[in-house]
Amino acid sequence: MFEQLFRDQKKFYKSGSTRPYGFRQSQLKALYRLLDEQEERLLKAVFDDFKKPAFETFALEIGVLKSELSYALNNLSKWMQPENIRGTLVNFPSKNVIYKEPLGTVLIISPWNYPVQLSLLPLIGAIAAGNTAIIKPSECTPNTSSLLAELIAEYFSEDYISVVQGGVEETQSLLHFPFDHIFFTGSPRVGKIIMKAAAEHLSPVTLELGGKSPCIITKDADLDISARRIVWGKFVNAGQTCVASDYVYVPDEYKTPFIHACNSVLREFYGENPKESSDYARIINDQQFNRLQRILETDDQYIVTGGVMDADERYISPTILDIPDWEVECMKDEIFGPVLPVIGYEDLNEIIEVINEHPKPLACYIFTNDHQAESRILEEISFGGGAVNDTVAHLGNHHLPFGGVGNSGMGTYHGVHSFNTFSHRKSIMKKSSWLKIPIRYAPYNGNLKWIKRILR
Ligand code: NAD
Repeated sequence: MFEQLFRDQKKFYKSGSTRPYGFRQSQLKALYRLLDEQEERLLKAVFDDFKKPAFETFALEIGVLKSELSYALNNLSKWMQPENIRGTLVNFPSKNVIYKEPLGTVLIISPWNYPVQLSLLPLIGAIAAGNTAIIKPSECTPNTSSLLAELIAEYFSEDYISVVQGGVEETQSLLHFPFDHIFFTGSPRVGKIIMKAAAEHLSPVTLELGGKSPCIITKDADLDISARRIVWGKFVNAGQTCVASDYVYVPDEYKTPFIHACNSVLREFYGENPKESSDYARIINDQQFNRLQRILETDDQYIVTGGVMDADERYISPTILDIPDWEVECMKDEIFGPVLPVIGYEDLNEIIEVINEHPKPLACYIFTNDHQAESRILEEISFGGGAVNDTVAHLGNHHLPFGGVGNSGMGTYHGVHSFNTFSHRKSIMKKSSWLKIPIRYAPYNGNLKWIKRILR
């Protein structure tokens, strides 16, 4: 399966066609045109998959892609330039240069929660860096994935960029080929499968994974602003966002006022009955719905807001749990749904310790006006990236590299970081033949004293 496709892409890459600046530029423009011309169809496909509001699909998927494309188009020639680097005394005189070489044929595997963005954002890097690419979108968004396959085939030649549809079986078949890079976005569980398969060919990997991302509110934070920004980042896309706050730590005495503030923001955003709001998405499929339902049934006693479920519509209302500690069902794994546990705390030291006992999160958010608390959390907790006094927003700055650490992933992308991820930085030292310094050659005689003076 897919052998011919892989071979064709390799052949096209080897032809050198993907390398010139003009070609890369024209393909980035083609992708921009695709997004422009097919916007309505893309919005509809994502809506048909899980009733994601058009605003969210545009703001967090298509719009993000367009702005990344514009940025890449404006900077591509600069990114492609070889970089002149300083020399060192030991090799004087020399000219030192880093060349940016494409990797070859790459595989992009994407999840379902932002199905357009997470398939095409890595592709921008792959095109900019001069690669060919096969994209394997998620089987959980059949409307979006089949539309992506149709559109990519319309705007690009198959031996350059193509979409393979399907699930586990198709992904496993693709993983048999010696790709020059595998860019995977998804769960840590599948990330391990991908890395094992990649190891067979020593294919480099970028793993954009997930995990339980904490949000910490300190005593002096503005509760209303915290509630508004946490609720937005948590319930956009019905909580199915990798960098959403998974849970919130709030000082004991502010727990009740914080939950009240969240309730009033929820009413403002989605009305008295969020089920009737056109601004609130549904759960992607029955499997995910059942998983979340099980969590809420087990943790029923802690529900203080929401908890309304409708299996036929795969609807779960925005739900807040007031939980005592980590010994509850919702804290066992990444929630990835519209369920926000709130935990009270007394001592910042304790929560830093507890968070550090768990796998490194993809994101962490801090709501504070206390610089000392901010510095402590930033220095003492290891996580992919995050924000102070906001949630999720750091993704919107393409100058910031985005990625996880440890269990939440490896490698980064966005902006120039995408270009770097899909390039090999080839280091070259250039020497002339007119000057000969024989110090490194045998017989060494008295050379040791000279080399000791240079290398110190
Ligand atoms: P997933 O890991 O189940 O699936 C991701 C992709 O892997 C899909 O294309 C799927 O077809 C494929 N896949 C699934 N099982 C496989 C197997 N056994 N062998 C080979 N391929 C397989 O993830 P998901 O449910 O689609 O997405 C949710 C997860 O993704 C969450 O953990 C979330 O945090 C994470 N995520 C991370 C980011 C990020 O940028 N770091 C973004 C979105 C989602």
